[in-house]
Amino acid sequence: MNKEMIIENMRSYIEQLKIWSKEYYVNDNPSVEDAEYDALMKKLIELEFLYPDLTQTDSPTQYVGGTVIEKFEKFEHTTPMLSLANAFSKEDLVNFNEQIERNIDKINIKYYCELKIDGLSISLHYKNGKLIKGVTRGDGITGEDVTSNVMTIKSIPHVISLKNDIEVRGEIYLSKAEFERINKERIKNGEAKFANPRNAAAGTLRQLDSKIAASRKLDIWVYYFMNRDSNEIINHAQSLEYMNKIGFKVNPEGMLVNGIDEMWNYIEKQTLKRNSFDYEIDGIVIKVNDFSLYEEIGYTAKTPKWAIAYKFPAEIKQSKLLDIFPTIGRTGRVTYNAKLEPLQLAGTTVRAATLHNAEFIIEKDIRIGAMVKIKKAGDIIPEVISPVKDDNFSKLSIWKKALVCPECSNLLEITDGEVDQYCVNIDCPKKIIRSMEHFTSREAMNIEGLSIKNIEKLFAEKFILSVSDLYKLNTMKDKIINLENFGEKSFTNMINAIEISKKNSLEKLIFALGIRHVGKKTAKIICENFNTIENIMNATQIELEQIYDIGIIVAQSIIDWFKIKQNKRLIRELINFGVNMNYNGQKKIENIYITNKTFVITGSLSRPREYFQKIIESHNGKVSGSVSSKTNYVIIGSDAGSKLEKAQKLNIKIITELDFNKLLEE
Ligand code: NAD
Repeated sequence: MNKEMIIENMRSYIEQLKIWSKEYYVNDNPSVEDAEYDALMKKLIELEFLYPDLTQTDSPTQYVGGTVIEKFEKFEHTTPMLSLANAFSKEDLVNFNEQIERNIDKINIKYYCELKIDGLSISLHYKNGKLIKGVTRGDGITGEDVTSNVMTIKSIPHVISLKNDIEVRGEIYLSKAEFERINKERIKNGEAKFANPRNAAAGTLRQLDSKIAASRKLDIWVYYFMNRDSNEIINHAQSLEYMNKIGFKVNPEGMLVNGIDEMWNYIEKQTLKRNSFDYEIDGIVIKVNDFSLYEEIGYTAKTPKWAIAYKFPAEIKQSKLLDIFPTIGRTGRVTYNAKLEPLQLAGTTVRAATLHNAEFIIEKDIRIGAMVKIKKAGDIIPEVISPVKDDNFSKLSIWKKALVCPECSNLLEITDGEVDQYCVNIDCPKKIIRSMEHFTSREAMNIEGLSIKNIEKLFAEKFILSVSDLYKLNTMKDKIINLENFGEKSFTNMINAIEISKKNSLEKLIFALGIRHVGKKTAKIICENFNTIENIMNATQIELEQIYDIGIIVAQSIIDWFKIKQNKRLIRELINFGVNMNYNGQKKIENIYITNKTFVITGSLSRPREYFQKIIESHNGKVSGSVSSKTNYVIIGSDAGSKLEKAQKLNIKIITELDFNKLLEE
């Protein structure tokens, strides 16, 4: 893979993870299983491990997921509420242990193993023995003050015997039974069901009406005692015992272990018991027991290095593959899909699963009629992993890939260096319909009222043959309102939404155009730099490449797109229809010391790393996770470690926070 392709892969992983994170943390309504999220995150981590210099500044590997919503008062945590690094195998745990042993030059480290409760973390503050605040993790630095809801949770003590000011942290969760009860009630009231107990718990705790929180029996397990400077308590096991003694609910399944084998035994035992608990667990958390080692072992911006979360593997089931059928996406890319004998997976009936591309099917030797393994990889699109090569398998015919587009019968093509097949016919009806679907989607031009079914219908009736035709629909009222499912009201709503879309800031249009390799973020970067469609159309390849995060392939793709006659015509038509062609956001600020320069931030600074990152990015500079010859500046705080050494070796300019502020003023 060349650099461009690596960045492109990273970007596509990041954009997808961001969408899933928003659904999960902000909307409390995930569209995929955690295992699918984790698998993609793992791919990103592996890629960043291989190419640290290409780590993207907004990568979710670099910060704690989650956001703070405006509805609640904000509260800055006294100590950041971090996430946990993940382990998926015994090998990952062996590596975790080895890294710690190497780091502190000690062996035989004692670990404390606990159930990983699938809820959401909470920080509880007590003053003078009284509960005064309950705060969610938020983005790790700032959380949401949900005290009024926390006060309704019966298992959280309002008063404790200890009069010191303390903070404890734990997991708020809903029992499986309570989750079932709430969902039944919601169905009865015609409301949407919660996807899982975690999301129901998060949705409940972040309710503005604490009566609703009170009516649902949220519960808690407490697992962190934050006042570690207290002399009598020197390890995690003791802190749990102590918290239990003063009135907190501590999970009884925790256990102190010596070494990897004992740790793995515990994990195996709990994996078997997993479904017997009245609450969901999604793994095992392993923490170094001895508090005195924590600072030495250290932290990343996102996780402590002295703890890890072992995640239970994704559920895998088998079913019969009844058929394989290709579908065409908006770029003409062919995706192969499996038609399956229905099976129950992740709480839903699954009838279809993705098979990715022809290469995947051929490589795995997947055959129609075979039993196949399917991953519990999401409520929406599960994934076929491999065939089961049983006695029947050899009797089945080897699968052959499609040679022509299933929609327009054009010959399918494979571009150099890619595995996917494409339909390159500009007039392929499926491609046109899919690109209109993309054009009108929420992240693009956000035209509500134009479902894929409506687009198909309007296309079939020849009312819309290209996206610019959308802006002519207002002249076709009489014909459209007579179509099935199109009343006067839905027509008016659709036309209003189309009218509103004309005012969108330019980055939405640039994304909506569906230029290959130009995702939402790239569209924004382009607009921040060029401001108007005219500037973008006139930009040269070199000018585009000079922008951070835009490499040769992306630049080439933009240039190629605007060279095509039909595309130029489309832009002209959109201008004539009054579609806004200007960027309404903030243009990047220029600073010769920061713009187009790469920074690495290391050590503890007076503010979180993200603060500096935002400033640098707002000046069109870049923050990288590791030092290389391409780094221009390393900003150091106290305790700067190996990155500082590497910067010295490579003769890279090392600056303090103060120096950075001076650069900013220049
Ligand atoms: P995490 O859930 O992997 O681990 C950290 C969290 O574990 C802590 O913040 C704490 O809340 C919790 N925890 C539970 N028991 C604990 C214990 N005994 N000790 C300490 N902590 C304990 O990390 P995260 O940052 O909260 O969330 C990331 C995970 O969320 C992903 O790995 C993924 O599984 C899931 N996620 C899913 C989606 C989706 O669309 N399905 C989207 C975003 C995130």
